[in-house]
Amino acid sequence: MIDQTLWDKCVAFHGHRCPGLAIGVKAAAIALDFFMDDITDEDHPGITCTSSTSKCPSDGIRCVLGIDDGTGLTVAEKEGELCFDFARGGKHIILTTLPGKHGLSAEENIVRILMGRDQDIFDIKTRY
Ligand SMILES: [Zn+2]
Repeated sequence: MIDQTLWDKCVAFHGHRCPGLAIGVKAAAIALDFFMDDITDEDHPGITCTSSTSKCPSDGIRCVLGIDDGTGLTVAEKEGELCFDFARGGKHIILTTLPGKHGLSAEENIVRILMGRDQDIFDIKTRY
């Protein structure tokens, strides 16, 4: 579940609410949680990300992790499901979106993503 304050901050950063932003915020929040024990400075968590898209999801990652293109974020455009490879100190958590539900409105999709269980939204792999 994503904290409302964090979501509002990311919507302000991105300029609109959209399912893509929700995907990025969710992915970055999962990564933060995964690396939690290694993070000493919450304002600079030191997590890098390789994202398969430069679009809306990457803004969620920029906002949550405080990184940007060239300063922790690398965009490697790829077709197909979205993939985010988060790394810190040689550890990786790699999230790939699972196929979404059909017939949902954008708003329903945002709720599904933000409130859903991590494993219902992403295929999650870790590498050490
Ligand atoms: Zn968007």
